[in-house]
Amino acid sequence: MLAQLVPAPLVRLFAGPYVAGDSMVLALDTAARLWSERRVRSTLDLLGEDVTDASQVERNVQAYLDLIEAAGRDTRFGAAEARPSISLKPSAFTTKAQGEAFLQIRRIAEAARSAGLALTIDMEDHRWTDATLEASIRLFEEGYDVGTVLQSRLNRTQEDADKIPSGMRIRLVIGIYEEAETIATSDKTLMKERMLELARRLFARGVYVEFATHDERCVELFAREVAPAAPGRAEVQLLLGVPRAKLQRQLEEGSFGLALPVRLYVPFAIGWDDATAYLRRRMNESPSVVWLVLRNLITRDR
Ligand SMILES: Cc1cc2nc3c(=O)[nH]c(=O)nc-3n(C[C@H](O)[C@H](O)[C@H](O)COP(=O)(O)OP(=O)(O)OC[C@H]3O[C@@H](n4cnc5c(N)ncnc54)[C@H](O)[C@@H]3O)c2cc1C
Repeated sequence: MLAQLVPAPLVRLFAGPYVAGDSMVLALDTAARLWSERRVRSTLDLLGEDVTDASQVERNVQAYLDLIEAAGRDTRFGAAEARPSISLKPSAFTTKAQGEAFLQIRRIAEAARSAGLALTIDMEDHRWTDATLEASIRLFEEGYDVGTVLQSRLNRTQEDADKIPSGMRIRLVIGIYEEAETIATSDKTLMKERMLELARRLFARGVYVEFATHDERCVELFAREVAPAAPGRAEVQLLLGVPRAKLQRQLEEGSFGLALPVRLYVPFAIGWDDATAYLRRRMNESPSVVWLVLRNLITRDR
């Protein structure tokens, strides 16, 4: 509730480092700059989940189709590894049943395949877990380059990991949504231990693991002790704006024994109203994000 009281310009100031801008063009410029200056890859995400009317669904679908078309023909991403991937949240594509969202996502997956881009279906709260896993595995098995996300805070995730087919891409995270203690842990140390254990399990199944955390010790353990078991099947993902330049350099230079590619999650909006609404929701869901953001605004990147 507190977040509703924060004036929009202040929310926008908060957003500055975390959002590539208020247009697709700015998002593509950010991705191109990350690649040309630092060889860092991107995954592009349009802000705008939890839609409430049908016109927003169609607008979001069209925005993704436009993004994919533009990214696919952007000559700044000549090499295959330079191309941004696309991330989306299912709740951006339905006002009714979950199934409707996955019909729209199939259209987007089709376009991504034609443009030669990979697609990742983000994981939302536990009410979406079954449908998201089912749809993403189905698309992958039909030959689309579609991956999804597993959240280590959920107690079910080990079992879910054992259903992921060989070759699929899985982003591993602790999970941003607070969940009931009957279905999840709230112990962050345990969440991180589970991430490493899940990565081991997924590698053993032949899965490509996108290890997504800003916890530097956890990333180092992943690079030193877990990823060497699966050469060419690991990368580290971070959010745009979280100051981790030193960690990125260490990963790319192989300071932990194994060089790993880094990909940044690059959110963008169509207009600042959407971006502001999104950030307010995030601030309500996780008030601790406000303090992290404040700390990062005053901490120089290293
Ligand atoms: C690329 C990427 C994609 C993600 N996709 C999903 C998804 O699909 N579904 C989902 O539920 N969650 C997703 N998440 C969020 C994830 O689940 C965590 O909530 C988030 O990354 C914070 O946890 P952490 O593992 O970084 O560790 P923490 O222990 O929370 O953070 C470690 C340190 O990192 C810094 N930090 C972490 N987050 C932030 C932030 N937002 N702003 C500033 N500093 C920060 C702080 O300094 C903190 O001390 C994603 C995260 C990343 C990096």
